[in-house]
Amino acid sequence: MRIIRSINLLRNELKAVRSKNQTIGFVPTMGAFHEGHFSLMRKARRDNDIVVVSVFVNPTQFGPHEDFKKYPRQIKIDELFAKKEKVDIIFYPSAEKMYQPGYLTYVNVTNISKVLCGRSRPNHFNGVATVVSKLINITEPDVMYLGQKDAQQAAIIKAMVKDLNFNVRIKICPIVREKNGLAMSSRNSYLSQKQRDEAPILYKSLVGAKNKILSGKTSSKSIINWIDSNIKDNSSGIVDYIECVNADTLDPITKIKGRIMIAIAVKFGKTRLIDNIVFHSR
Ligand code: AMP
Repeated sequence: MRIIRSINLLRNELKAVRSKNQTIGFVPTMGAFHEGHFSLMRKARRDNDIVVVSVFVNPTQFGPHEDFKKYPRQIKIDELFAKKEKVDIIFYPSAEKMYQPGYLTYVNVTNISKVLCGRSRPNHFNGVATVVSKLINITEPDVMYLGQKDAQQAAIIKAMVKDLNFNVRIKICPIVREKNGLAMSSRNSYLSQKQRDEAPILYKSLVGAKNKILSGKTSSKSIINWIDSNIKDNSSGIVDYIECVNADTLDPITKIKGRIMIAIAVKFGKTRLIDNIVFHSR
């Protein structure tokens, strides 16, 4: 496995790969690997000749008061993990090379970047769409692997790839959870023991809501209220949002019908956790 920091060097390496008609699977990440990342790497490994994983804590997707500075960075440990998963190349660029002086260009996927997490993180998805566009142009992968954990991000990237005719297929992989249901996230390392014990209430509430819907409840409002009380009554979490949306368009729904997603964001202290569940209602 190689760690490549240079954009040009990576381009040359991958040009050689393509000239041999080998396929490239690409997993974009911000590092601090956990089982969620490994699941994407394993899928990419099974499907492709060459697996490229990028590790880049992208400054343009963090708000001014967010955790860019303290986001966990552990490239040496990540390197060992990635080697174990038989990754071929870690692309580990610097912010200075990705955003050179005079940088002007940003990608804005309208509408769906403004809902859900976009409300409390106004420029976040422009930063994500911009960096992912750059990473696609640099690696030119056959397939890019994303996690359902960041469902809105996945929907935005899918729309961007379609709208801008990027020549890449996208595979969305299921959410990997701790045994207690907590969705794995690099940010879970910020949680205190008490918060860690409380945080599984997110998934428990999503499953509880799904069961209510499958047994006949159809009002989004009453489902949202139930989740809200369940989280408030059983944890110190502060709800940012709870929404029932169409799973494909992310449009809010009032009467639950068809393939839906319930998405939530809850703050435990300064740590903001997100989770979601997608299913067919009746
Ligand atoms: P991140 O390093 O947090 O930017 O995540 C990199 C990729 O891993 C994204 O496509 C995430 O959606 C995905 N990912 C993060 N956590 C999980 C998880 N618990 N299960 C599945 N995929 C995940």
